[in-house]
Amino acid sequence: MERLDAFMARANAAYYANHDPYADFATAPEISQAFGEVLGLWAAVVWQSMGSPRPVILAEAGPGRGTLMADALRAVTRMVPDFAGALRLHLVETSPRLRAIQAERLPDATWHDAIETLPEGPLLLIANEFLDALPIRQFVRRGAGWTERFVVNGAFVEQSVDGPQLEAAEGEVVEIAEVGQSIVAKLASRIASQGGSALFVDYGPTESAPGDSLQALRSGQPADPLATPGSADLTAHVDFQVLAGVARAAGAVVYGPIPQGVLLTGLGLVTRTGALARSLPPARASAMLRTATRLIEPDQMGRLFKAMALCHPGLPPPPGFAA
Ligand code: SAH
Repeated sequence: MERLDAFMARANAAYYANHDPYADFATAPEISQAFGEVLGLWAAVVWQSMGSPRPVILAEAGPGRGTLMADALRAVTRMVPDFAGALRLHLVETSPRLRAIQAERLPDATWHDAIETLPEGPLLLIANEFLDALPIRQFVRRGAGWTERFVVNGAFVEQSVDGPQLEAAEGEVVEIAEVGQSIVAKLASRIASQGGSALFVDYGPTESAPGDSLQALRSGQPADPLATPGSADLTAHVDFQVLAGVARAAGAVVYGPIPQGVLLTGLGLVTRTGALARSLPPARASAMLRTATRLIEPDQMGRLFKAMALCHPGLPPPPGFAA
């Protein structure tokens, strides 16, 4: 018998160690190079608002194939060379397989198993679809109390536990992402004391909502999350409202969550995509323009995905979040 968070951690570690996740799902940086470019420029502008400290740590959590960061570095090298010269690149990645792919594109990076070993000092951290891969616990309201979900032979069993201090309807599932909360608390507290900002882009509602959001994708298709651990990518919705509270309690100022489409439009992704399209033959130009639609339109990724930034209290609102 394994508690759900332990099962999910084990299943995803096996999955990311042995699979090319991009056979199973497409993430924003893999859809358009403009995504990483505008986020790189976001980091450069925040760096300037910090007084352009050098050196500065530029970090990414869960960099996947390294595409976002490679696009970001190309853009800042061209547009904000001072920032490119000041930054020290650090990647937080647990999968040896993905580290090897990242090293081909980002040879100057330093790798970490966890955020705790990032060097001290001002930090700019970006994480796209990182929090949703972290393990969750699930509690089920039963009568006046709670049970917790454990996994046995590919099925859930429930055990009575002291559950969360929350109201819920009979049978309702409530998820708690302890690992994600702990990472956000640590980042917020170091940003509050050492300076900088962290930008999270992920899938989840603006306000906390009960419900079972655990899902699995295998070869691009929804699959049973509990069957054959390690063969499918397991994710859960990110509870931005809870994470924002955790970050504030640790001393950071929180901006968002706002829809991904609002952030990307504010950062000029449509303009950048148009510029890229102009140099392409017509068929490829229209394909390029469709990538911006996919990332921004509310009925595609533009509303389901949210962006939230944690900042040192002395900083102005970061680009894309200003009122
Ligand atoms: N940001 C990338 C990849 C998203 S997939 C993109 O947008 O394409 C999730 C990434 O987080 C993978 O790189 C995976 O190996 C990594 N990851 C998952 N759990 C992790 C953990 N606990 N610590 C560090 N990295 C983790």
